[in-house]
Amino acid sequence: MNATPLLSATNLQKAYVKFANRIEVLRGLEIDVAEGEFLSVIGNSGSGKSTMLHLLGTLDQPDEGTIHLEGRRIDNLPSQERDELRNRTFGFIFQFYHLLPELSVLENVLAPAMIQHSVWSWWWNSGELHEAALAMIERVGLSHRLTHRPQELSGGEMQRAAIARALINRPRILLADEPTGNLDAANGQHVMQLLRSLNEHDGLTIVMVTHNLELVRDTDRVVRLIDGRVETPEKMLAPPLAEVGAAT
Ligand code: ADP
Ligand code: MG
Repeated sequence: MNATPLLSATNLQKAYVKFANRIEVLRGLEIDVAEGEFLSVIGNSGSGKSTMLHLLGTLDQPDEGTIHLEGRRIDNLPSQERDELRNRTFGFIFQFYHLLPELSVLENVLAPAMIQHSVWSWWWNSGELHEAALAMIERVGLSHRLTHRPQELSGGEMQRAAIARALINRPRILLADEPTGNLDAANGQHVMQLLRSLNEHDGLTIVMVTHNLELVRDTDRVVRLIDGRVETPEKMLAPPLAEVGAAT
């Protein structure tokens, strides 16, 4: 493993203010993500998992603390630089897919590539980008659904389309927020197998937030958030993981 983590967050603090209430969500969170690892993050609802993922992926900024990508600080970049870095470095998938309903699978997958290119550059590269999109759609097993719209797909297929879309710009890190949270067990397993394969065979670094302890058994490392901080993993996870193991 490299000495410098791919992604490293130090002393992250984040509070939301709603009316007169101030909710301290992250309270000094520290987390490192190594290149090539499949890290899962568990924790109760409200423990700050989604907030952490948004900060790591530069969708939002911490109140305090720093985030470094390969030693370069990324949490305080000017917004244009941050948007470019985000488009190149991070892919996101969410529990509810967030596909655009009027677009086909192919168009949904191409959308982030279109956004990244100017009109000219898009026109110039569109053949190549189409091929990349088709290859990515094949990679997630949806070649037979190219022209289908999201409402014509199963939940598992929608999430696989969302994964293809997240990967079209070849990000280094996939940030997944409860990616199987809305799927039945079989579709959830299918999506997990795909993520595992993208990690093992394509070298994709993945940070996955989940409620499901059974899913984390397939990942390289688990951390648990409690009240906006990372709890020591081995100690906290030993009993529930042993139970999951015993049940199968
Ligand atoms: P988790 O993903 O672990 O369930 P979140 O990071 O979504 O936790 O949220 C942590 C806490 O912060 C919750 O109490 C939630 O209500 C609050 N929160 C999250 N986002 C916002 C926001 N944009 N504005 C106000 N409160 C928020
Ligand atoms: Mg959440």
